[in-house]
Amino acid sequence: MGKPKLGVFKFASCDGCQLSLLDAEDQLLAVAEAVDIVHFPEASSRLESGPYDIALIEGSITTPHDVERIQQIRGDSKFLMTIGACATAGGIQALRNGADTSEFMQAVYATPEYIQVLDQSTPIAEHVKVDFELRGCPINQYQLIEVIQSLLAGRTPRTPKHSVCLD
Ligand code: SF4
Repeated sequence: MGKPKLGVFKFASCDGCQLSLLDAEDQLLAVAEAVDIVHFPEASSRLESGPYDIALIEGSITTPHDVERIQQIRGDSKFLMTIGACATAGGIQALRNGADTSEFMQAVYATPEYIQVLDQSTPIAEHVKVDFELRGCPINQYQLIEVIQSLLAGRTPRTPKHSVCLD
């Protein structure tokens, strides 16, 4: 049996959480030995389609195409994990959720009629089932590695229950 296949996918985001993963260096190398990273556009030209054993999702849903894409990825993935505040809560781009999006589009784009955007920026879990959420902006790379390693070992990840200290 081959190694589990891992894919990393970006939606509306700044790439910071993916860069956190790349920053983990030694730990990432250990993960790379245990899994087959088949889709990670930020780091590799290898862009295989599913199925995936593990999908890491960065970013929020902001366009009709995003909705279709996340449903496709969910259908292709055994375990889907969202990473970072954009994916788990809608991100800073959700600040526009209470405003008139068409007004912004008129102000920003010369030809807004060509832009297709949803009225709200929403977390991934509002669209598909999510198996694990890792919060933070950006995420803590060691927590991400811990979740991946625990998944591969079949144990519960040792991550904080809260993203802020409640003491
Ligand atoms: Fe960037 Fe923060 Fe969103 Fe991660 S959660 S992609 S660091 S804005």
